[in-house]
Amino acid sequence: MQKLAGKTAVITGGNSGIGLAIAQRFVLEGAYVFIMGRRQEELNKAVSLIGHGIEAVQGDATNSADLERLFARVKSVRGKLDILVPNSGISEYAPLETISEAHFDRTFGLNARATLFTVQGAVPLMSEGGAIVLIGSIAGFIGSAGYTTYGASKAAVRAYSRTWTRELASKGIRVNTLSPGPIDTPMFDAVSDEVRKTLTDLIPLGRLGKVDEVAAAALFLASDESSFIAGSELCIDGGMAQV
Ligand code: NDP
Repeated sequence: MQKLAGKTAVITGGNSGIGLAIAQRFVLEGAYVFIMGRRQEELNKAVSLIGHGIEAVQGDATNSADLERLFARVKSVRGKLDILVPNSGISEYAPLETISEAHFDRTFGLNARATLFTVQGAVPLMSEGGAIVLIGSIAGFIGSAGYTTYGASKAAVRAYSRTWTRELASKGIRVNTLSPGPIDTPMFDAVSDEVRKTLTDLIPLGRLGKVDEVAAAALFLASDESSFIAGSELCIDGGMAQV
């Protein structure tokens, strides 16, 4: 049986990497999925890859007018929203001495600020309850040299899920954080083979994660299979942060 039959989901950054894999899995499980991203060409590719049950809204998650347009579209097509995955994120290497205000604002602007305003825009549509799956990172609590702003912005995401659980549980909305370790996505394209090897050596399971593995965990947190789980964090990291 499909686990998300009849549900409506929004996945920001659904045109690449983890977000695309989540979109594919949710559609396979019967959801109608809206994806958002800035690159129209990548959105088109995602829609033609997945076929039915998916719709793309081009936009920038840091722009409030684009978010308004996204949720207006969801409302007019589906009337309500059941599942939100604010997955859009960036990760830029910057050791402490090199961090500029622009770098800080870019990272927090998407990972922390846009995540908050995406959730704020979605909640009024979740009138029948639902599930919000925030995308954190183990960098939010283990620390990662060169990723001060990334780790701190993802730590904000962990805090969101706990706070919003207290605020939204009475509306039947569960909020959880899915925190991946290193996953093989386009975000890793810029990483050298040497860094890749160093990272892999730190992962007890001895490899990077796959996007489908993250999508399976997202499905669990988005579906009724996790109906009594709220305000928690699920790490999908091959054991990296756990040992
Ligand atoms: P990708 O770089 O493959 O995907 C990032 C996605 O975010 C793209 O779809 C991109 O689309 C979208 N995006 C970027 N900027 C914006 C914006 N301003 N507005 C709307 N969408 C935007 O990365 P991943 O799939 O690896 O990462 C997805 C999430 O997972 C991120 O939150 C990341 O921090 C998190 N994560 C990833 C890990 C990994 O190892 N890969 C580990 C831990 C967490 P477009 O460019 O078209 O806007």
